[in-house]
Formats: sequence, C-alpha cells, structure tokens
Amino acid sequence: SYKTRESNVDVLIIGAGPAGHMAATWFARTGVNARIIDKRSARQFVGQADGLQSRSLEIFQSFGFADRALKESNHMLELCFWEPEQDASKGIKRSGAIPDTTIGLSRFQQVVIHQGTVEGWMRDSWKKWSDNTLVLERPVQAKELEIDQSVQSTDLKSFPVTVTVEHLDDDQAAVEQFGSKISNGLFRQFDGDGDKIVQGETEIIHAKYVLGTDGAHSWVRKQLGISMTGESTDYVWGVLDGIPVTDFPDIRCRCAIHSAENGSIMIIPREHNMIRLYIQLQKAPRANDSNSGRIDRSKITPELILENANKILYPYTIEMVDIKWYTAYQIGQRVATEFQKGGRVFLAGDATHTHSPKAGQGMNISMADTYNLSWKIAHVVKGLASPIILDTYESERKTVAENLIEFDSTIASLFSSRPAVNGKETPGVDLEEFHRVFEKSNEFTSGTTVDYNKSILIDKVDSGSRKFRYDEENIFTSPLAKRCPIGRRLGSSQVLVQSDSKPVYLEDIMPSDGRWRVLYFAGDIKNNEYLQNFMNLFGDYLNSQNNFVKKYTPATAKIYSVIEVLLVHASKRKAYEWNDFHTAFRPRDYKGRMDYLRIFSDDESYHHGHGHAYEKYGIDPSVGAFLVIRPDGHLAKVENLSEEGIANIEKYFSGFMIPQLVSLSNHQQIVVEKENK
Ligand code: FAD
Repeated sequence: SYKTRESNVDVLIIGAGPAGHMAATWFARTGVNARIIDKRSARQFVGQADGLQSRSLEIFQSFGFADRALKESNHMLELCFWEPEQDASKGIKRSGAIPDTTIGLSRFQQVVIHQGTVEGWMRDSWKKWSDNTLVLERPVQAKELEIDQSVQSTDLKSFPVTVTVEHLDDDQAAVEQFGSKISNGLFRQFDGDGDKIVQGETEIIHAKYVLGTDGAHSWVRKQLGISMTGESTDYVWGVLDGIPVTDFPDIRCRCAIHSAENGSIMIIPREHNMIRLYIQLQKAPRANDSNSGRIDRSKITPELILENANKILYPYTIEMVDIKWYTAYQIGQRVATEFQKGGRVFLAGDATHTHSPKAGQGMNISMADTYNLSWKIAHVVKGLASPIILDTYESERKTVAENLIEFDSTIASLFSSRPAVNGKETPGVDLEEFHRVFEKSNEFTSGTTVDYNKSILIDKVDSGSRKFRYDEENIFTSPLAKRCPIGRRLGSSQVLVQSDSKPVYLEDIMPSDGRWRVLYFAGDIKNNEYLQNFMNLFGDYLNSQNNFVKKYTPATAKIYSVIEVLLVHASKRKAYEWNDFHTAFRPRDYKGRMDYLRIFSDDESYHHGHGHAYEKYGIDPSVGAFLVIRPDGHLAKVENLSEEGIANIEKYFSGFMIPQLVSLSNHQQIVVEKENK
C-alpha cells in the first residue's frame, strides 16, 4: 500500500455502531469538526440489537427524533412470565403479567426496532446539523494508531494522535455469511471472521481526540494495550427473528418462559409482526487458548433454535414462516480495565463492556457512553472547558459498566438455570425471586436511574450511591429539591409557558445542544417578598457585566448560548404580569427582538392537567432553588436562592469552565452578533 493523503481533524471516531453514531450526533449538533469511519461496507444489515429503553428515547427526544422511534417501532408494553405446570408433563402456564416498563419512570416506554434503523435516525440527524458535511466514511479501516505523549493535555493546537487508515473497496469489504443463506450475525462478533483484508489507498489522519467505538473485539483497545477483566464463562445464545405462526397466546407480548427440563426462552415482539426468540443453548467453558473454548457457531441453525423453542413452549407449538435473521451469540461478562489512554483516546460501547443480550442493554448503554463523553470533548475542543472534565468520562461510565455486568450475571443465571420444582423443594431457581428481581431490574434497564458519582462536575456529598442497589437508600438529594437525586438525569415535568399558557415538558425546552442550564425555580414570587426581591437581585446580576453566564460565553457567541437561565415560578400564571418579570428573563437580541420562551409557571393547563413540577421535584414554593443541569441532562448541583447560592454556582463553574478572554460591552456584543449573522 502507499500513503497518499494526510489530514487533520479535531475528533476521529473509529467504528460506526450505536456508540459511534451517538458520538457523531453530538459532534454534528455542537459543530465539532469530526470524522467517522467504519470498516464494513455500506450493505445494510439486519438483526443485532432491537430494544430501545426509556432513557435512550429521552435522549432521542432531546436531539429531536424520538417521534420517529415512536412511529416506526413496536411498543412493548406487557411482560408475561410463564413457568412449568405443577405436573411438568403438561408443559407451561402463565404465572403473571406486569407492565414492561416500570410505571412513572419516564414519559417513554420501551420500544423495539432494528438497530440499523436506529443508526439511520442518527445519521439523518447529523446530516441536518452538519449541513451534510459529516458523512459515514466506509469501508475505511483503521490500521495503525500512535499517540504523541509529549503533547500536553492542555495543548489544543496540536494533533497528537495519528491514525493510519485504509480506504477499502466496497465489494471487497462486504462480509461473508456462514452456512446459511438466511442473513445471520455470525460475523459481527469475531474480529476477522468473514472480513477480507484488502489493500487500498492509505490515509494518515492526525486528530486531537480519537474515539474507539469499534465493538466487542475493539482494535483500538488492543492498540492501547487495555485488557478486559471479568467472568471467564461464556454464555451461548441462539437468536432468531421471523414472523411466527403459533397458538401460544402471549406471542405479541414480551415473555420470560422457564420450562421444567428444556431451558428458557425470551420472546420479544417486534415491528412488522415479527418476533425475536432468545434461547440460551449452552454454557461453554472458556479455555486459556482463546479459540478452543468457543463453540462451533456455524452448527447453530434456525432449525436447531426452533426445535428448542418448541420443546420449551410445549404444549404450544411455533413455526416461523419468514425467517429474517438468526445468530449465535457467545459472550462473556467483562469490563475494560481502562476507558482511555493519555486523555486523548477514549473507548466506548462494547469496546468497554460485553454481556448477554438478555436485558436489551448493549445498544442503549453504548449510546449512553458516548452521550456522556462527546459533549465533554466538544466543550474542550471549543475552548469552553478545561480537559480535566474528560476524566469524569471513565469515572462515570466505568461504574455503569460494572453495575451492568453485575446485573447481567444475576439476571442471566436466574434466567438460564432450571426452575425449582414444587416451589422450593428441589434445588433450582425460585421463580418468585426471578419475578421480583426482573421487575425491580426494569428500573435499572430503563437507564433512567444511572447515578453519577461526586466529581468536578457533580456537586454532592459522596454518598456511595454509585452502585446500583435494589433499595434506594443511597440516593443523594438536597433538602431544597428533595426528589431530585443529584447525579441522575432530571426527570420530566410539565410546566406552562408564561406568555401563552402552552404546556411543555421542562426537558423539551432543554434540548441536547451543548448548553448548560441553570433552572431558576423562583418560587411563589407573587406572595413572597423575599422571593420577589431575590428575582430582582438575580436579574440585575444577570444583566451586569460580571456573571457566570457572560464570563464563559465567547464574545462572539449569543448570550445564553453556553449557559442558559430559565425561570420556573410557582405562582398562578395569571397572578404575575409579563412586565413584572425582571428584564433578564425576557431578554432581547441584537435586533431588539424579545424572547418569550424563558419564563414558565407551574400551574394548571387548559387541556393537559397540572404538572405539579415543584411537588414532583420536592421544591418548596416558599423557598425555591437553583438546579444546575449538565448538557446531558444530569443534575449537577442544587443551590439556594441567595447571594451565597449565586456565588456557589460561580465557584462550581470556575472549577472547569474557561473564562472567555475577550469581554465586550453589551453594545460591542450586539455588533459582533450582527456580524455573525
Ligand atoms: P458495534 O455495534 O459492534 O460497532 C462497532 C463497529 O466498529 C462495527 O460496525 C465494526 O465494523 C467497526 N470496526 C471494528 N473495527 C474497526 C476498525 N479497525 N476500523 C474501522 N471500523 C471498525 N443491545 C441492546 O441494547 N438491545 C438489544 O436488544 C440487543 N440485542 C442484541 C442481540 C444480538 C443478537 C446481538 C449480537 C447484540 C445485541 N445487543 C443488544 C448488543 C448491541 O448490538 C451491541 O451492544 C451494540 O451494537 C454495541 O455498539 P457499539 O457501537 O459499541 O459496537
């Protein structure tokens, strides 16, 4: 091969699965100069992940495409449990049915759709935000990676990571299938399986930051010399997608089915009348020699999976008239020892954690990894924040990965073992315990309870709440916002737009656009003199030259484009007139245009009830509170409404934000904004 091209880019993403796609979505949205490559050809694949959890849908909503998920996917609402009849020769019976998503956790409930479709939504989103400049470059394979360790982490002019990539030929990069003509996923899990390595044009890319989102067999991870630790046993799953013909009554519900002797099955109802069957086929020990412990996956056929399914479902029968995809999935439960090297190369997604597909977590947690990382990189690349914020990526996401593995081994062993016969008389899984754990674990799998630990970005007493527990004792909240765990994403609440009474979800006015939000819960301003005076004091502060909003906003950027202040009051909407709000909350831009969308009221709507936001968040209307929300929606800090509270927020931001040197007068600011239009 010969080297022809050489180029610079701020961020290079290697691997375009869900993790790489989510990273690119953030970079497009925040205007970061990024590239994304994948060694696979453009051929669309079927199969892989299919479950989208509540938190992923909330994130999609924040980027503006959750509506596509809601329209195009199958909504999975009921979870049914089936277990052996008392007389096991009679087969199985339904033992319970519960809501699939725990009630009250989120506006969104789990939906199911093909992973390729999900990736497509994200690509459409980049197209829009990057004006078509960000495109998935494939087939392009990363071949060499080098980090220049002599470059300081604070040096943002240099491009210390050099990656040599090869532009492959589309046909040559297409993967080969094993055994069957039916689409299968047998290639995606083993690096090299079915991949023909071809020689093509080589390019040298110099990057400030590199993301290794290249899957379970991560090439980037190997280059960095980072290993995976964890469980040494590999579970083997057979997975089959197709349209069923069956007399089993719950076929359109999610089902967890234990048979007495023939193992367990999970049914996932999917889009277009399709279902997915997950069956654990075998528990294979893993030998020291990396390959010898593996089963021969090419022997796993759709016929074998269906044969097992029929045994488990007895007395019901099932056939598949239109098999779309199948795979055999062998994976251990492991976490990477480190998630980054030199503060310049970061691993995310399956490259950092592998586990069973049972709880539908892989795609969701992989996207959540880069949803956590990429806004931080965007802040650093744009000179808004110090690179020290990047350290919080590993400390926040490694904990999630560890919790995931712990959760997965509990659920996988409960799911896969033989049930106890006659209650608990013979050894085996107690199915009541299984139901209880499964139901409770829905909170974890929804992704809405992820709780980031104390750090430069999360201001809380270290409560040890990092580990997921089935009880909730370790949550840390402030007495000012008693029902808002600090470190978790802020839950949803409906409030009214002050100017026109429209009911809106608070999170919908805080989309993922890279901004911080200071939610100013101003309290019952109408009936409380202190709160009224404080609004004027805080408004004057925001209008002054020296405040935490202006200090970190580049002179050339619009006001509130880095830190946005939104006011939510607890008085009756009609009790307080528009002109009585301080001008800081009804700002005007360089043309003098007023912004009517920064003041909200926690009041009854005409058509959609009352959101009771203060009650929901545990905020006392006679006291109020400041909630500082990170660009990824996580609650970072709670402060009281006082000068000291304002000073504490200033101090919080000064811990990592970079003061923007050019400070202009209001007038100059307006001129600059005008020129930038
Ligand atoms: P991947 O999706 O593996 O993407 C990595 C990409 O990197 C690949 O496209 C690869 O071509 C590319 N790449 C690798 N090396 C290089 C290189 N050197 N240069 C360039 N590109 C490279 N998850 C769920 O959330 N819910 C589910 O219901 C679910 N079900 C599953 C069912 C099955 C059968 C399987 C196999 C997985 C399932 N998962 C599920 C897991 C989910 O598919 C993965 O967790 C997810 O795809 C991981 O995303 P990723 O972006 O980290 O990696």
